[in-house]
Amino acid sequence: MDSAEFRVKGKEMVDYICDYLDGLGSRRVTPNVEPGYLRRLLPGEAPQQPEEWDSIMRDVDDKIMPGVTHWQHPRFNAYFPSGNSFPSILGDMLSDAIGCIGFSWAASPACSELENIVMDWFGRAIGLPDEFLSSGKNSKGGGAIEASASDCILVSMLAARAQVIRYLKEDQPDAEDSVFLPKLVAYCSREAHSCVEKAAMICMVKLRVLDPDDKCSLRGATLRKAMEEDEAEGLVPFFVSCTLGSTGSCSFDNLVEVGPVCRSFPCVWMHVDGAYGGNAFICPELRPLMAGIHFADSFNTNPNKWLLVSFDCSCLWVRDRIRLTSALVVDPLYLQHDHSDEAIDYRHWGIQLSRRFRSLKLWFVIRRYGIAGLQAYIRNHIRLAKAFEELVRKDDRFEVHNDVRLGLVCFRLKGTDRLNQDLLASINGSGKLHMIPSLVRGKYIIRYCVVAEHASDADIDHAWEVIQKHATELLEPSVEKDVPVPVKAAPVIPTKPDPSQRRLSRRLSFTRSVSREVFKRSMSRSSLHDGATPIIVPDDEDNINSDLEEDVFSSSCTIEDDRLAIVEEKE
Ligand SMILES: *Cc1c(COP(=O)(O)O)cnc(C)c1O
Repeated sequence: MDSAEFRVKGKEMVDYICDYLDGLGSRRVTPNVEPGYLRRLLPGEAPQQPEEWDSIMRDVDDKIMPGVTHWQHPRFNAYFPSGNSFPSILGDMLSDAIGCIGFSWAASPACSELENIVMDWFGRAIGLPDEFLSSGKNSKGGGAIEASASDCILVSMLAARAQVIRYLKEDQPDAEDSVFLPKLVAYCSREAHSCVEKAAMICMVKLRVLDPDDKCSLRGATLRKAMEEDEAEGLVPFFVSCTLGSTGSCSFDNLVEVGPVCRSFPCVWMHVDGAYGGNAFICPELRPLMAGIHFADSFNTNPNKWLLVSFDCSCLWVRDRIRLTSALVVDPLYLQHDHSDEAIDYRHWGIQLSRRFRSLKLWFVIRRYGIAGLQAYIRNHIRLAKAFEELVRKDDRFEVHNDVRLGLVCFRLKGTDRLNQDLLASINGSGKLHMIPSLVRGKYIIRYCVVAEHASDADIDHAWEVIQKHATELLEPSVEKDVPVPVKAAPVIPTKPDPSQRRLSRRLSFTRSVSREVFKRSMSRSSLHDGATPIIVPDDEDNINSDLEEDVFSSSCTIEDDRLAIVEEKE
């Protein structure tokens, strides 16, 4: 493709994107395909000869799009938002065109400098303490854009691990670093994201998962008790990860209590994960939710979740950049250049050497919307979530299960988990609305998240209508039928569902059923939720037959959890 063709096809692509996004409302939200559908449609080998662009695009329409879950659909209310604003799309397009690999200042000065400036802009805009900004007075801190919150938490834990090993080596200077690993303990709440567990796994340290209070908030006394117990056992507490806006129920840990506990131990790094919720602090009235942030050593938020920036863009700030980079620096000679003393070399701030020009899209978004535009976007989502909460509360078949403070409402039908699983499966199976479940205080709840950039009251009303209709069909199966309902209806005996329907709906309830034995073991593990891992239910609370069961395990479809697969194999 030369630039003449690119001018034409590029403009066509812009039209294609606009038609796609404008026409989303008339599509199903979730695709109606079985695992392996695409392999049947595409050739087994790559083409030897170049193909015409138009023929490739025809396959996008006919083969790819039918298997896409439309995250930007107005009825997509699952997970958290995924930014895709036009300024951000254009920013990424330009970044791809420049195609620089900004591992050091010299590798592309504007790439490093813009990242540095935008991280200060954004940090200031969400009210972070000055110590986290590189332009703050006498500041030792600063920020970097990482690929994901999982990276932010991993590199923070790596920095904390390096810090505590340095500390422990003061007494045992000749010991190998790895000698200390079995002693190190990290902490988080049961509400924390599963990436904390993954980070602990990679760092080869223990993770102690603590019970939050009845508002799903981690409290200082709980943490102190656990850390003191561990210390008495000869272990070394070194890292605490708190959450502002948890994935399961958008709860907030109590930093005002947790902070002083961390400070009272000799060498504990406190991280604060605000992957979704952190973006909201761009609104000054929401900053009370981050009270205690000045105790933190590091903080992350993902503008690619809730600030209209497209994936990937996860912002990490640290109080002391040397403590971060000293855990990650290798600095071979061939990457050194003349400016190493005064310029930021972002390769020392994360795992990867090569880095995209990600700050461009954040810069485009901040400038094009202005802080005021971004505040209006956040406030609209919160207003709509509260409106949805009102609708749920007015229907006494339902109950709300979280404090609705940002854009997430957790609700369920009064009744069993099974009933709610069926409700969610039937809604998701209809393709009219998409939500995912979570566990809040051990109960299966349905998460309704306001997601679309221009979400409106009409979207909320429509979603609630769909939910009510499916609930009514489930609770009173005779009501919606065409046959006139007899005055004195006989009790309804549910017919045995068609197995393939059953399989699809099971997948769409985002649960996985396992033997009671495996269920008990999974409960005793620290497994944290993340919205992507299926929720485990014991199969004896379920009347599904065994050949079906096997299929659910093996094909496992849209949701994967290798760890669980391992546990199951050992069975
Ligand atoms: C989404 C989320 C994460 C993980 O984000 P990635 O960027 O996908 O790694 C971590 N923590 C919280 C609270 C989240 O909501």
